[in-house]
Amino acid sequence: MAVNDLPQQIGSAVARLLVGAVTYADLIESNILIRVLRNAVFVTFSLRIAARGYRELRARGIVGLVRDTYTFAAKRFFKILFTVPSVKQKVDAELSQALAKLEQGMIPTGPDITRHLTLPQTGWSDEQIERELEKLSGMKHSAWEDGKVSGAVYHGGEELLDLQTKAYRVFSVANQLHPDVFPGVRKMEAEVVNMVLNLFKAPGSGVGTSTSGGTESLLLACLAAKMKARIERGVTEPEIVAPITIHAGFDKAAYYFGIKLRHAAIDPVTFKVDLKSVKRLINSNTILIAGSAPNFPHGIIDDIEGLSTLAVKYKIPLHVDACLGSFVVPFLDKVYEDLDPTVQVPLFDFRVPGVTSISCDTHKYAFAPKGSSVIMYRDQSLRRYQYFLATDWSGGVYASPTLAGSRPGALMAGCWVSLMKIGQDGYLQSAKEIVSSARALQHAIKNGQVPELYVLGDPISSVVSFSSNSINIYDVADQLQQKGWHLSALQNPAAIHLACTKLSIQSVQELIDDLKKVVQIVKSQADAVDAKDIKKKQGDVAMLYGVAGSISTSGLVDELAVGFLNNLYKA
Ligand SMILES: *Cc1c(COP(=O)(O)O)cnc(C)c1O
Repeated sequence: MAVNDLPQQIGSAVARLLVGAVTYADLIESNILIRVLRNAVFVTFSLRIAARGYRELRARGIVGLVRDTYTFAAKRFFKILFTVPSVKQKVDAELSQALAKLEQGMIPTGPDITRHLTLPQTGWSDEQIERELEKLSGMKHSAWEDGKVSGAVYHGGEELLDLQTKAYRVFSVANQLHPDVFPGVRKMEAEVVNMVLNLFKAPGSGVGTSTSGGTESLLLACLAAKMKARIERGVTEPEIVAPITIHAGFDKAAYYFGIKLRHAAIDPVTFKVDLKSVKRLINSNTILIAGSAPNFPHGIIDDIEGLSTLAVKYKIPLHVDACLGSFVVPFLDKVYEDLDPTVQVPLFDFRVPGVTSISCDTHKYAFAPKGSSVIMYRDQSLRRYQYFLATDWSGGVYASPTLAGSRPGALMAGCWVSLMKIGQDGYLQSAKEIVSSARALQHAIKNGQVPELYVLGDPISSVVSFSSNSINIYDVADQLQQKGWHLSALQNPAAIHLACTKLSIQSVQELIDDLKKVVQIVKSQADAVDAKDIKKKQGDVAMLYGVAGSISTSGLVDELAVGFLNNLYKA
């Protein structure tokens, strides 16, 4: 074959490929083509590795890269070590002990417990069922009724509960998948979305959908951003940049949708996202930047305007997670006018130009029944990408706006009646009371009423997290648990927090008093241990986070977490 035949050879081979006429034998014969292809593949591959290496180096810096590599290698090493038979035996023994204890705590046993593992042959009587329901709701549990549980129960009062139950009864068979059958539910959903858009200062173009909860709202925001970047920019290896304090729902979205989540650092003093870190993590694969208003761990509102500047500069969508901010943050301006005019409430809503989507949980501070949240977009163009269409399905033209197919109209009705019943004045009042109780806790610690503790950052919403430089904060959590408190344990750094709800209003002073007591208990225990040179018996929280916080044992926490999830389904 003459050299000048080459272009022609390739040309005809490509032409044949295009018409699908090329055979395996043809390809083997024209080994020149294979060599060209091989080289092209090699160059592309090398370029991609180089680009990836450069991106990682830019994102983490030399020190960060070395540190991350060390952590990765060390964790890997211990994972392998734990497979060595003699070690594995010991670890398994410890693990099964821990799992057995976990099971004991979760699954009640005893002669008075009847397990219903198959359908009753004939249905129960109403009285029988009601008696059983009473027993079930009376099972031993964390005392949320006294306001001793962080977050979890966003109770709007007995009267509202009655109204929600009535709405549920009226719409219990309703399904938003069929707006022709349930036009009233469609109307309620559209109105709820508009009311929430209005609270978050959306422009006239603003749109949204209701969802089953904050996690679904986050999943959809990530999905929409991913599809937008794929279709409009051809991004096939999508990445999201968000602070380490962003909700784990983002990790879930990354896991579900094949996205890489790049965690930006937070400022060690303000606990807000570090904008320099965000900037370093942005690259051509970035499909979304995100911040919180406020975040779950520390209740801190990120610098959304700073994130917006970056988002606008690099033309990347920006999501604000106001799931927890819910119906408290939109009222903060007014709350602080009365409460403390020196507090500056930063902008976090659609008034910030780069913000393209916001999630707000109606099942938190809007007091709607659980299973209710709203995802909002600045305009139609992004919402379009969260829609799912199967227009050629043999079951008919199918179109669905969110993750679920059928959706419970009864929950939407419960949400709508909550918003209509409480109204702006009611939500302002509850925001004022909730923020006041969080301020009371923060001030008590900052004013030195419990000198061993310090508050992380300067939270202005409903969550206050705190830690200690002199005692183990997880021991404090364990001691509080003995007094019926159930605060959330945080890690990296170690801390605990209280997310105030309406129920905390009555209990926050008791928490402050109990904190003073338990800190003394923890201190005296530590002193006794030091004096006698013995090992202290650790509580559950201290033990779990001790294991999680150590490189050698952190892998075991996965096993415990799986065991916990498995237990959920042991009847
Ligand atoms: C509660 C919460 C969410 C969503 O959680 P769900 O349990 O799915 O409702 C998201 N972000 C933050 C900051 C939250 O506190």
